[in-house]
Amino acid sequence: MTADSQMHKQQKIIQVAVPLPVRGERLLCYDYLAGPAADSPIGTIIHVPLGSRLVWGLVMGHGSSDDVPSPRLKEVAALADSPPLTDAHLRFLKAVANWTMAPFGMVMRMMLSTPSAFQPPATDTIYHVGQRADDKKLTPKRQRIWSFLEANPPLPAKELAQETGTSPAIVKAMAKAGLLESYEVPKQAIIAQPNPDHKPVTLTAAQQEVVDGIRGHLLSGYSAHLLDGVTGSGKTEVYFELVADQIKAGKQLMILLPEIALTAAWQSRFEARFGVKPVIWHSSISPAKRRHIWRACLAGEPMVVVGARSALFLPFTSLGLIIIDEEHEAAFKQEDMVFYHARDMAVQRAFIEEVPVILATATPSLESWVNAGQGTNGGQPKRYHHWQLSDRHGGARLPQIEMVDLKRDKPAAGKWLSAYLVEALQETLAAGKQSLLYLNRRGYAPLSICESCGAKATCQACDSWLVTHRLSGARQCHHCGFRTPLRPPAEDQCDECGATGQMRAYGPGVERLAEEVGHLFPEARYCVFSSDTMARPEIAAEMLRAITDGEVDIIIGTQMAAKGHHFPNLTLVGVIDADLGLAGGDLRAAERTYQILSQAAGRAGRTSTDGRALLQSYEPDNAVFKALASGDRDQFLALETELREQAEMPPFSRLAALILHGPDESQLLQVAKAMAEAKPQFQQVDIWGPTPAPIARIRGRHRIRFLIRSPKKVNLQHILHEWTAEVRIPSQIHLQIDIDPYSFL
Ligand code: ADP
Ligand code: ZN
Repeated sequence: MTADSQMHKQQKIIQVAVPLPVRGERLLCYDYLAGPAADSPIGTIIHVPLGSRLVWGLVMGHGSSDDVPSPRLKEVAALADSPPLTDAHLRFLKAVANWTMAPFGMVMRMMLSTPSAFQPPATDTIYHVGQRADDKKLTPKRQRIWSFLEANPPLPAKELAQETGTSPAIVKAMAKAGLLESYEVPKQAIIAQPNPDHKPVTLTAAQQEVVDGIRGHLLSGYSAHLLDGVTGSGKTEVYFELVADQIKAGKQLMILLPEIALTAAWQSRFEARFGVKPVIWHSSISPAKRRHIWRACLAGEPMVVVGARSALFLPFTSLGLIIIDEEHEAAFKQEDMVFYHARDMAVQRAFIEEVPVILATATPSLESWVNAGQGTNGGQPKRYHHWQLSDRHGGARLPQIEMVDLKRDKPAAGKWLSAYLVEALQETLAAGKQSLLYLNRRGYAPLSICESCGAKATCQACDSWLVTHRLSGARQCHHCGFRTPLRPPAEDQCDECGATGQMRAYGPGVERLAEEVGHLFPEARYCVFSSDTMARPEIAAEMLRAITDGEVDIIIGTQMAAKGHHFPNLTLVGVIDADLGLAGGDLRAAERTYQILSQAAGRAGRTSTDGRALLQSYEPDNAVFKALASGDRDQFLALETELREQAEMPPFSRLAALILHGPDESQLLQVAKAMAEAKPQFQQVDIWGPTPAPIARIRGRHRIRFLIRSPKKVNLQHILHEWTAEVRIPSQIHLQIDIDPYSFL
């Protein structure tokens, strides 16, 4: 027997999940000598050597995964200072990996992205009174410290010195002399507890009915609720009421919002209702906060966490309720490393944790609509309870929506506002009210062509046009971030032929629209509201304040301005190009156009003044616009559901996209060919492709796509695992799998 195998005899072996991007239908674990983890339960977070690094992994099993463990097993380096993950949390991580086909190691890595939380907390030394012979006289300063501590709980030296007007050195000297005793305690910020009764509102009868309805399910394990109500109908107030219930029960709550950057208003509402700020979780909070929230979650502290999609992976141990606000938002889909839809995974988590989940929206996604048993008899089970709120609170009316036919009322070349919209703007200005011009295009112009040589300004690394941004003085690629400065005075030099002053802008962006507004209404105060101008939180907050306080007459904004805000003075919304979202033939084009336009239109008249929305279009008779103009949302959803069902598209079937990308086109084509040859043949499974992706090159990588469709009952993931395992994929080429794709680019 060798010395090594001797050691194996003595040491336990454990199976560990490590953060490697290895995809597989079965969860791949590695054997390690247990070392300090010999008695650690499954779900324990451990530090293990991997190659030349130390990485965080999870204990997934005891005993070897092989009959004969390798004699070169490495040993676990350390245990995290943390309780093990719950069984439900582990099952959730596995469910995410199984559904998305992302390597479990990558899902785990995302979840373990706060390594500072695994270190023991820093400690504070605190002092309290110690031994003292009664007759011994103290200096006045020492006496002050002594007297203070006799009447107060222990404190760190610095605070004690502040309280008593002495110095930390004196405190420490007293401790050394045995007059004070010192203790080490973990440094822990306290999470402020929301007060469920801080400032409740009196609900309307309709709101109360929904609260009571959902309340009836609150304590009975998993249930899913579509909270469907027009903007301003009080959905937030309704779910706040249920949040209050679960706070009283000492539970943890998770609230997912699509764009954390826009939640300042939401946070103040939470604070007004519950007396404290909610716990915010997103990628850019400070490491100290992250660490603290992570540990508090795992310790089961009652708390309300509101976050972007990554909050989904927090280690809650006593969840009571999950809420997904604006459930229809595409921003919930992550398309990077692990491709997952936070809404769908949140429902999954609720199911595994056996808690209720509420999906709130004014424009349900077709998926949720069908899950709520609506619009179809296509044999789909009803999975969600459906609660509707149909009136705006306080009697504010939904805006009146009118179509403007651009074929008849055509703006001059290089202009984008129809005469009808200009007139409406004028009236609104004269009435001292606010207008929003909505155009979902950042920058000045989406396309520039050189008049001299005919070249288009394009990205070096992508097959895409460069967008001119005048405010930031650059042409930018919106796919990879590449930018070339516009150099004054020849700010529009052609990169191809070098001619200056010849680049001509085509199409509008919000900056260009602002120029037009400036010419038409020189006295009006206007602002551009887009991710470019709202990048810094201070600036964003100030702009929102100015708009809310009526210091702006015309807001020219992208979808950032169209969502979630409550601008009390806004009465007119002009949609510059209602057709924009319909181009491109995306599966969800109509649905998304309906959602975003009704949201944009919904900005008008949120207070009691009547609002108006004008939609400029070349196709005013399109079913989407007809439904918008008539305000018949359900009719639109029913029609769209029917079309999807006829076309056998989601939610009536399942889709997956396979994207191959690599730096070398011919190598990529070879792999695509091999993939095509290995295509599985199943009666009911359609595979389209390989085809070059609509954007055939991004960041210098060529891209080829397959699209797969199957009936819902087919295990699509299994088919894809078998198929992709057949083809050897060289390391330069990356295979991306996107289950339920939302982007088809
Ligand atoms: P939604 O989430 O459906 O858009 P909100 O909950 O934001 O609706 O309600 C819209 C506005 O009406 C908010 O300012 C909210 O405070 C107010 N509101 C709604 N319901 C009530 C109520 N019962 N009492 C007082 N104010 C309410
Ligand atoms: Zn680019």
